[in-house]
Amino acid sequence: MFGRHKSVIVIGLLWIVAVFSGVITERFQDSQTTRLTFLSVGQGDCTVFQHQGATILVDVGPASEYSDAGARLVTPALKRLGVGRIDMVILTHPDADHVGGLVAISKRFGIGRLVMAHHFRSKPEVSELLAKARIADTDVIWSDGDQTVQVRAFHLRMLTPEWQPGEPDNDGSIVVQIGDGKASSILSGDASALEEQEVVEEMGKIHSQILKTGHHGSRHSSCESWVKAVAPEYAVISVGRNNRYGHPAPEVVDRLRKAHVRMLRTDQQGDIQFVVGKKGFELEK
Ligand SMILES: [Zn+2]
Repeated sequence: MFGRHKSVIVIGLLWIVAVFSGVITERFQDSQTTRLTFLSVGQGDCTVFQHQGATILVDVGPASEYSDAGARLVTPALKRLGVGRIDMVILTHPDADHVGGLVAISKRFGIGRLVMAHHFRSKPEVSELLAKARIADTDVIWSDGDQTVQVRAFHLRMLTPEWQPGEPDNDGSIVVQIGDGKASSILSGDASALEEQEVVEEMGKIHSQILKTGHHGSRHSSCESWVKAVAPEYAVISVGRNNRYGHPAPEVVDRLRKAHVRMLRTDQQGDIQFVVGKKGFELEK
């Protein structure tokens, strides 16, 4: 499913390397620290990866007609993290709890490239979103198969499943693996157990220190074979306080507990940050 189309995104590589020759201002004095921050954005996802001056977001938080986490939470959080420009935004799939914050964020920050799964390209809501965020089609990488963006020592591997219109958007989610050989994390958007099992069957090696649990800890994700194959030290559950879906599901919490995985929840802990140390990703106290 993922092996059919395999490539390293060279444009991404050259372009991200170019970031490092930029002028580093006072605001970026701490930019050498590599951080992975799971922002507390309510019922939705937004993860920020910072490495040697480059900033990559995986999803951008939720927005509805009543509230916009992009303006209210993500923008101030990015300022606190010293972000002046976003080099790449990867949107796992086009549900509002993952892409809603894009318009507000694009008003405050320059965005270099956007990555979305090619199979969502023809969706009217995707064109509408890109138009509102003023992102040109030429700045979008329409991901397909197994692709990697190299950012210095780190790779961002993006696995885009095969997906047909009519199937749930969740199962078209891009699975993102971030790592440098020692530090490692895997993020699977809202992929269900079906997609998780396909990744396990096809990719094999997916062991990661940090698992961002799929679909906010829903009972349809984080299946036993996925948890076993990833064998994480930490599971990060990005979830809204008292959310109406009952996330995370008790059976998922139970499964992770039995696997001796340390669970961290954004509704209880707020923003959750890891920095790279001797043991790879280490939880920032
Ligand atoms: Zn979601």
